[in-house]
Amino acid sequence: MRSSIAHTGPPPGEIPTGPDDTPTAKTPPLPRRTHRLTVKARHEDQSLCEHRVTSSGKPTEAGCTGRHDYVATCSCGGWTQTGSPRTALQYSHATHRNKEAARA
Ligand SMILES: [Zn+2]
Ligand SMILES: [Zn+2]
Repeated sequence: MRSSIAHTGPPPGEIPTGPDDTPTAKTPPLPRRTHRLTVKARHEDQSLCEHRVTSSGKPTEAGCTGRHDYVATCSCGGWTQTGSPRTALQYSHATHRNKEAARA
């Protein structure tokens, strides 16, 4: 750890007032929506499955009935889909994202 930085602060009386420095006239670029996919597995009774399952989808923990379907949501808040298999939702989300990107 280096601690050689002296905190003297900026010299007083040097506020830049250029013609380009007008924050009120600034138009910030539109915030780009991110389309991040979140997929959650569900049991047959539609409760979330956060258990560990085998690679073939078999339940390994007590109280787990296995993964019935998936709930996919997008971080933009405008897209939700349920279904199975997971790859179908991932594909569907990619379509949604491409569509949104083309519109922007
Ligand atoms: Zn989205
Ligand atoms: Zn489960």
